Amino acid sequence: MTTPWGLPDFDAHEEVLFVTDEKCGLKAIIALHSTHLGPAAGGCRFWHYAKDEEALVDALRLSRGMSYKNAMAGLPLGGGKSVILADEGRTKTPEMLHAFGKAVEHIGGRYVTAEDVGMSVADMIEVARSTKFVAGLPNSAGDVGGDPGPHTSLGVFLGIKAAVKWALGKDNLNGLHIALQGAGSVATGVALHACAEGAKLSIADIDEEKAHKLADRSGGKVVSPDEILGLEADVLSPCALGAVLNDTTIPRLKVPVVAGAANNQLATPEDGERLLQRQILYAPDYVINAGGIINVCTEYLGDGDATLVRRRIEGIPVRLEQIWSEGAESGRDPAAVADAMAQRLIGRG
Ligand code: NAD
Repeated sequence: MTTPWGLPDFDAHEEVLFVTDEKCGLKAIIALHSTHLGPAAGGCRFWHYAKDEEALVDALRLSRGMSYKNAMAGLPLGGGKSVILADEGRTKTPEMLHAFGKAVEHIGGRYVTAEDVGMSVADMIEVARSTKFVAGLPNSAGDVGGDPGPHTSLGVFLGIKAAVKWALGKDNLNGLHIALQGAGSVATGVALHACAEGAKLSIADIDEEKAHKLADRSGGKVVSPDEILGLEADVLSPCALGAVLNDTTIPRLKVPVVAGAANNQLATPEDGERLLQRQILYAPDYVINAGGIINVCTEYLGDGDATLVRRRIEGIPVRLEQIWSEGAESGRDPAAVADAMAQRLIGRG
């Protein structure tokens, strides 16, 4: 395998660990991008990669993303991420999860893991048998923790409201039209908050049944996944997949605001500039979608209750306004401004 140093996604990562346990078949990479603000926190992805190098690139890229996300959310956490390299059949055993937990434990708290793609709450319970450096575990009634989705939805909803105020001068979403891409966990919460405030929704999901169910609950209208990005609306909220904003889709957009939950919405950094050229206000994804990690962090650190989680989530629109304001002064696009701010916060600016 190539060393991390030679890869374009290497960004002075503090530590990259390659973990092997032949007995149970575990192959994993744990990347600690920065511990400047606190333990490097970020989930574990369980994924089959065609080439080992792709797993390394994912770990490098995702761990840097977590440094930025945690810093911009004002959390006392650095950024890290792990990937378990699954075989083609995606065989996952308790032994493998225990071995992974042992490796996390061995790092001594400089890395904290949680769920990511391919890892469930049940898997994290297994991992937690070998390490205490784990979050995203089920919560008892009244405690902080559990499913991060509703917290992400709240942050995205508050971020949409801030964007609408900034770009359109409106104090609430009453009568505004939101084009929602995705009808999954986060999109559902966003839709319900928005419709409670009187927004009109158009919803698209490749799973039509999910789109119809959400439309029934929110009084929205189902449109096709092909239509959603070209829809004339007040807000486009990408809540499905990454790289959705690119040189093909941006010219088709007919909205003044893009604000949604999906990670890595911009296919390339130039796409931030493309949105700016079209005078479309963009809410940088890792800033607006931090509600989930805010909840996970408060669970892990045990430093607060639901009120503190809410207060931290209410900081999301404040941070977005700082970004847009700095962007307006400097002429730079919001994604570039957010990256620069995050780098300063982690002592690399
Ligand atoms: P989810 O799997 O519950 O929902 C995603 C939905 O998108 C699914 O219903 C899927 O069918 C749909 N979809 C996939 N491709 C599509 C397409 N081309 N057009 C329309 N719909 C499509 O996931 P989620 O937890 O709601 O997360 C949504 C996004 O937000 C993801 O990008 C995720 O990485 C990001 N995110 C989630 C959280 C969280 O707390 N869950 C936190 C931060 C970021």
